[in-house]
Amino acid sequence: MTLGTVVVGAGQSGLNVAIRLRALGYDKPITLIGEEAHLPYQRPPLSKKFLAGELDAKSLLLRPADFYQDQRIDLKIGMRGTAIDTRERRIDLSDGSALAYEDLVLATGTRARELPLALTAGLRGVHVLRGADHALALQRALAAGRNLVVVGGGFVGLEVAATVRQAGMNVTVLEQAPRILQRVAGAEVSQRLRALHQAHGVRILEQHQLASLRGQGGQVHEVVLADGQVLPADVVLVGIGALPNVELAQAGGLAVQDGIVVDQHGQTTVPGVYACGDCARFPWGEASIRLESVHNAMAQGDCVAQAIVGRAVPYAPVPWFWSDQYDCKLQMVGLSTGHDAVVVRDAGPRPTQGASVWYFKASHLLAVEALHDAAAFAHGRRWLEQKKSPRPEDLASPTLPLKDLSLH
Ligand SMILES: Cc1cc2nc3c(=O)[nH]c(=O)nc-3n(C[C@H](O)[C@H](O)[C@H](O)COP(=O)(O)OP(=O)(O)OC[C@H]3O[C@@H](n4cnc5c(N)ncnc54)[C@H](O)[C@@H]3O)c2cc1C
Repeated sequence: MTLGTVVVGAGQSGLNVAIRLRALGYDKPITLIGEEAHLPYQRPPLSKKFLAGELDAKSLLLRPADFYQDQRIDLKIGMRGTAIDTRERRIDLSDGSALAYEDLVLATGTRARELPLALTAGLRGVHVLRGADHALALQRALAAGRNLVVVGGGFVGLEVAATVRQAGMNVTVLEQAPRILQRVAGAEVSQRLRALHQAHGVRILEQHQLASLRGQGGQVHEVVLADGQVLPADVVLVGIGALPNVELAQAGGLAVQDGIVVDQHGQTTVPGVYACGDCARFPWGEASIRLESVHNAMAQGDCVAQAIVGRAVPYAPVPWFWSDQYDCKLQMVGLSTGHDAVVVRDAGPRPTQGASVWYFKASHLLAVEALHDAAAFAHGRRWLEQKKSPRPEDLASPTLPLKDLSLH
């Protein structure tokens, strides 16, 4: 029997490994194992158009059902990888069977971080949002005039706040840090998005700590803050980040450090075992990083497929990410860590025309955050990919069009 590749995790990254393997001419068996009982689907609409009821479940699918047979991808959904024996090159599955592999890919993603049980006390009406089933449960709880408290001012929480507010619910966002999006974006973006939410009637409480949840008949009813304030809450969404699914890797003896540790080719510390997407920590300059974005899931999946077919190319992405809130699109490219200068540039004279925030280190461009400013994102992305940089002082001059800036 010819051994092939087994991919654990049938999400954005795992599916892309399978797609790219076939596109690269890989002819051996490919098995894709996914614990969710759904065909592989995309997550970004879960907090946006799917939650709003503007997209149905079918339009979430990354590929139609017949694609898998056509591409000879043996898709096993509703099935979990439960243990790996890296010496025997074998993976055990939740139905009691086992699969032998030549190459194994772990694309197990992340799961939503939850509040401690002592806080939620098993109350109904407390939600997280990671998968389609979560989105459906949250959708069922929403109704105009009800009160939603979002715990955590990150991307998922703010996107849900925007969607739900537009559906007529009363929304409060609770953030314990000094500002929303503190972990993932600069202060300018936080400030502008805060103003946008407030203009839509969302209450944003920064530097406020959750103390407890109170229920009535087993259903959440109120959120109590550390300073004693009490917020009415028919629904609570906990959006306090995600944890990488590393347990399978860890039990199999792979190195794990807030993510499955991989090298530039997506290979883990065990030959023949790769990891990619949200669950993988990879080298980035002097450091190592783990990213949670569609672009990374796809691009790192591609990198792993290349390594498996023997055409390894080092993974050195220019990361990018987007978020939609109301009619505003935030697009971010690069990583601003270590910046020593920031330039804010308005896209036009009116605030509704958008703005971009440019991060530099020693006059070299590191990252761009563009709010409602697709041109700034496109220029920034191209320059970062070409390793070129405009001068901060030129960029600061609003009369100089981006296309005319000289680069170094
Ligand atoms: C609500 C929401 C909105 C988002 N919006 C955006 C956005 O606007 N822009 C953006 O760039 N990114 C966004 N993201 C992030 C993006 O969806 C993820 O970065 C991307 O899905 C990561 O792909 P992945 O394949 O690594 O992981 P996942 O898509 O999480 O797939 C991993 C899969 O592996 C399965 N699995 C785990 N363990 C096992 C096991 N042992 N056996 C079998 N299966 C297993 C999981 O159930 C899951 O189905 C959003 C995420 C969420 C949740």
